[in-house]
Amino acid sequence: MTTIRFHALKESFNRKPLKVKENERRSAIFGSNVFNETTMRQTLTKDAYKGVKDAIEKGTKINRNIADQISSAMKDWALSKGVTHYTHWFQPLTGATAEKHDAFFETIGNGLAIEKFDGGQLVQQEPDASSFPSGGIRNTFEARGYTAWDPTSPAFIYNTTLCIPTVFVAYTGEALDYKTPLLRALQAVDKSAVGVAKYFDKNVKKVNASLGWEQEYFLIDSALALSRPDITLTGRTLLGHSAAKGQQLDDHYFGTIPNRAMSFMRDLETQCMLLGIPVKTRHNEVAPNQFELAPIYEEANLAVDHNSLLMDIMEKIAERHNFKVLFHEKPFAGINGSGKHNNWSLSTDTGINLLSPGKTPMSNLQFLTFFVNTIKAVYDYEELLRAAIASASNDHRLGANEAPPAIISVFIGEQLTKVLHELKGVTKGKLSPEEKTDLKLNVVGKIPEILLDNTDRNRTSPFAFTGNKFEFRAVGSTANCANPMTVLNSVVAKQLIEFKQEVDVLIKKKDLKKDEAIFNVLREYIKKSSNILFEGNGYGEEWQIEAKKRGLSNNKTTPEALKAKISKKTIALFEELDVMSKVEIEARYEIEVEEYIMHIQIEGRTLGDIARNHVVPTAVKYQNTLIKNVTGLKEIYGKDFKKYAKEQLGLIEDISKRIETINSGVTKMTNERKKANIIEDIEKRAAIYCNKVKPLFDKIRYQCDKLELLIDDEIWPLTKYRELLFTK
Ligand code: ADP
Ligand code: MG
Repeated sequence: MTTIRFHALKESFNRKPLKVKENERRSAIFGSNVFNETTMRQTLTKDAYKGVKDAIEKGTKINRNIADQISSAMKDWALSKGVTHYTHWFQPLTGATAEKHDAFFETIGNGLAIEKFDGGQLVQQEPDASSFPSGGIRNTFEARGYTAWDPTSPAFIYNTTLCIPTVFVAYTGEALDYKTPLLRALQAVDKSAVGVAKYFDKNVKKVNASLGWEQEYFLIDSALALSRPDITLTGRTLLGHSAAKGQQLDDHYFGTIPNRAMSFMRDLETQCMLLGIPVKTRHNEVAPNQFELAPIYEEANLAVDHNSLLMDIMEKIAERHNFKVLFHEKPFAGINGSGKHNNWSLSTDTGINLLSPGKTPMSNLQFLTFFVNTIKAVYDYEELLRAAIASASNDHRLGANEAPPAIISVFIGEQLTKVLHELKGVTKGKLSPEEKTDLKLNVVGKIPEILLDNTDRNRTSPFAFTGNKFEFRAVGSTANCANPMTVLNSVVAKQLIEFKQEVDVLIKKKDLKKDEAIFNVLREYIKKSSNILFEGNGYGEEWQIEAKKRGLSNNKTTPEALKAKISKKTIALFEELDVMSKVEIEARYEIEVEEYIMHIQIEGRTLGDIARNHVVPTAVKYQNTLIKNVTGLKEIYGKDFKKYAKEQLGLIEDISKRIETINSGVTKMTNERKKANIIEDIEKRAAIYCNKVKPLFDKIRYQCDKLELLIDDEIWPLTKYRELLFTK
């Protein structure tokens, strides 16, 4: 065994789980490092408290005087907890979170110093942001960007720093982050959903989108992970033969959580509690060393922040436990990848989940209204939703073999399918009293009972209704949820605006009653969008053929999928809703295409390095051993040696052939990259990376993996799948 592999394994075997102190009730520590409602009540003046509340609930601006009061209270609270620094915490388009720490400490002359943090510092900062991707926004306009406080997401303390969630925008107003368009989309869906919810309850004043994400991840011993250049540089294994055992015994899913992983989880959960992230569920996932963590759902903007924060702290806490967390969607070939289901619903300030049926026929009609409108929105913008989850790493889950297809469809279950079928038959125009009664009693009235035993769950659907929420399952585990949430809430917002217009027209011009008008519009929506509904096996070959017949898109790769982000239809949507301008949309598109290119480029280089510098030399070394052996046999047996060296001779030849294929593959890949790199047009460059460079990965890998099986384990330089996946 090579020394690096040997030491890595030895280190990982010697590791004992870290003891985690946990003697306080979680409910007692929950949110204690958050400048939350309770803390605000305790520390703010009445005016300041009202200022923040209004900003959160009504979107009103906070004036400088109030901001000064809030910042002063925040500073005192933070100092009392040993905090020394503050930072504006934001989510630039790199996908990671960004922070630049400043100390509260300031000198005031004469050798004296104080702690200072005023309203100005709370509300706005100007980070040196020139290295963040901007898609040309700051080149064509002004060079600077600033961060601005988002009072709807509370400040928190992490590692002696007060973190203030902010948006990040150019001085000309264009968003340079994930949060800004999300906040705008949430505003749009709030406004349009309130309009529709008022048909059912005049008292509704605000509708919040809720998000409950489920984060999947792998935990790999850090010494083993570090011994693999591919994991270190790309977050996934670019080669590696499957272990003799994979996930076929299903013995990991929901199994006992291994000790070391458990100790990591407990440490993590304590940190989450302090930060007010309401984590609730933890369990083993399907693949070995794969796990999942899910919180109680929250308002979408907060939930997005909490997921970004969680991913950050997971990495830090994993370090303490000598683990590396892999968020990559497909870190290992041949076993399950990781996703991040986005559970989504809409709820009113009167406490009603609009995607949950109620106790009366009218509240069930409300449920049906939001249910059908969501389906219609997904149908109309399926291609954009696909684009919202596109990334080089998620391509391994969508559209590749061993993964769900890149087709967006909606699963609603057999019972609700029947309900929609009946609604399709509703009479056009006015309904007879008998029909109304029938609908009330037999269709709408039955919904709550139906949902109670709606147990059929289709795990292959990318977008499924699960009782009181839709579950967007195609989101990748590395994704910032803001991206899919911005799209989903925008398309639903647009749909609800249209719905209200159509219903109002029927009420005014055709003299229909409100519920008649609603039934009429829903009927047409169901007819129009039925092509998106699919209950069968989403992974099956037949679905790809069927989906094509239905006219659904099947954009298998990221470069292909991303195009929907700059279509006329998309630009019209985002501009109409004031979610993004054309400049912002195009900038994001450019950033994502470039990110794709860089991603594949880095993977290509890394694979080339490993193949040429690790695998081929090892193969040559082993081949030399074989040659020496054969020469020795020849010395002993003379002419007859072939009788004894048949296997060895075969191996020598086999290794030569494989080395040849690897080398020519790497050369070809390098040449394709060179060709691509001189192309100005990023779409064309991305297409070459996708269609010419990337397919060579598999060819090179295949030969490397075969060599792994042939070559002496003693000298194989790379930590193997069985070691990475089954070291607990
Ligand atoms: P699963 O079987 O897919 O794991 P769960 O019922 O455990 O589903 O819920 C998964 C996630 O959905 C959790 O984060 C949970 O908080 C969230 N969730 C539950 N109800 C809602 C809702 N109404 N809106 C949004 N998210 C929800
Ligand atoms: Mg789920």
